[in-house]
Amino acid sequence: MLRQITILKQIGRMSFAPLACNHATRIVPDLTKDRYSVKRGDYGTLTNDDIKYFESILSDRCITDKHDIEAHNIDFYYCYRGSSQLLLKPRTTEEVSVILKHCNARKLAVCPQGGNTGLVAGTTPIFDEIILSMQLMNKVEHVDETSGILVCQSGCVLEKLEERVLRHNLVIPIDLGAKGSCHIGGNVSTNAGGLRLLRYGNLHGNVLGIEAVKADGTILDLMSNFKKDNTGYHLKHLFIGSEGTLGVVTKLAIACPTASKAVNVAFLGLNSFEDVLKTFTAAKRDLGEILSACEMMDHQSLRICVDHYKLKSPVGEYPFYLLLETSGSNIKHDEEKMSNFLESSLSRGDIQDGTVTSDPSKVAHIWSIRELLPTAKINEKYFFKYDISVPISRFYEIVEVMRERLGYLVYDVQGFGHMGDSNLHINVLCDEYSEEIEKRIEPFIYEYAAKLKGSISAEHGIGFQKREYLKTFKQPEALHLMKELKLVMDPNRILNPYKVLCD
Ligand code: FAD
Repeated sequence: MLRQITILKQIGRMSFAPLACNHATRIVPDLTKDRYSVKRGDYGTLTNDDIKYFESILSDRCITDKHDIEAHNIDFYYCYRGSSQLLLKPRTTEEVSVILKHCNARKLAVCPQGGNTGLVAGTTPIFDEIILSMQLMNKVEHVDETSGILVCQSGCVLEKLEERVLRHNLVIPIDLGAKGSCHIGGNVSTNAGGLRLLRYGNLHGNVLGIEAVKADGTILDLMSNFKKDNTGYHLKHLFIGSEGTLGVVTKLAIACPTASKAVNVAFLGLNSFEDVLKTFTAAKRDLGEILSACEMMDHQSLRICVDHYKLKSPVGEYPFYLLLETSGSNIKHDEEKMSNFLESSLSRGDIQDGTVTSDPSKVAHIWSIRELLPTAKINEKYFFKYDISVPISRFYEIVEVMRERLGYLVYDVQGFGHMGDSNLHINVLCDEYSEEIEKRIEPFIYEYAAKLKGSISAEHGIGFQKREYLKTFKQPEALHLMKELKLVMDPNRILNPYKVLCD
């Protein structure tokens, strides 16, 4: 066993290509409405006159070709499928407004869609909802280096924004494995967490202003360039995390922090979850203000990733791994802190092996392993995936409980996640979709999280997947207020029906 920290040797830089599910090799899933026996709401049905009306506004951005719509009807992991007949691609807020006004008058249901990387079936229609794609609303209006404020349309791809603000020595305060495809509007609508939340907090704090279109077509200008603006109810927060059920986000102002001059990344091998906890506690104590990320993965998660992407693991084989990042302004100071922390963790026996680097290409390589982790399972036969918040001391317990509970029915249960934020991802891998397996997992897993006073959705949202279980977690009075709010914002319930709330 190697009992020393090695400096990473030559490793090529990974590129972050837009995420793409290989549609040709995936089995087309059952229609969601059939698999889950959903009853269609009392909505209007699309007519030729509706299509003519939309064509008069959008011309060739009003798409009715079945093949062109197919990829928008199926979710990223090929688990859910809708049967929309119409895909609309507006370019401006005014176009979104006119579209929604018509849909509201005709009671036509609408499914807003960003990069279609959402993981809770909020992104694709359940029946024939019109898909409103934000893909072409991808203009950056303004980047201000002094204030750090970025103003852009909601369809900008996260990775492109990252490249854009870096020219001004800024970073986007959110980063996630789907960045090559997801839109900033999708991130905001799901209140996505991701890899930088430990350092910069969630989007409720970083989004300064929002422009959104209500279901009836009203344009709400809630744009602001200030963190401090105490002028009544903070309406922008309604759109952060409401998953397209309260309005369509069209424009944003985001506070972007200055890029760190010094970044160190350590990848560590550990023998037990107890050691993971000890190392996390020591990292917070010894690295203090420069600790910017703490990601945990178990052996099962890493193995499938390095096998699938043919990567070299940065360390030998251990039951657990931790990825720690520090970001600061003085490389010498930060490296010294990191190396003191690693030496004392090694000498206590909390970590067994590790590698640490500040070389940008090697830092990128280590991060790419973590970022590719969620998609490594894409070629597995079938998987169920969950995203819960649980107390840090009992972070991994549920993975072991699920392994025992599911036994021979499945061939792997994996756990990884944003440990610094108490956010665990669990994947259950099996041969095919099975109601029996699903029933053994749900609602058990949600009740488990609720019993621990955790959350049934740490960051992916509720979507269609978890809507039945919201009541296990939310106080009835809170749920009732959510329903009242929905009716105020969208009385005809045309926006993303069947998602978040059960009718
Ligand atoms: P979509 O998937 O298209 O939509 C998501 C929801 O938002 C839907 O309900 C949709 O109706 C709504 N929506 C989209 N755009 C708008 C808009 N402009 N106005 C109103 N509603 C809108 N999530 C995390 O939180 N942290 C992670 O670390 C993370 N990692 C991921 C890694 C991978 C590989 C993948 C595939 C997903 C990951 N996710 C993660 C899930 C995450 O929710 C999405 O990746 C992302 O935030 C969704 O953005 P999107 O543009 O793809 O939105």
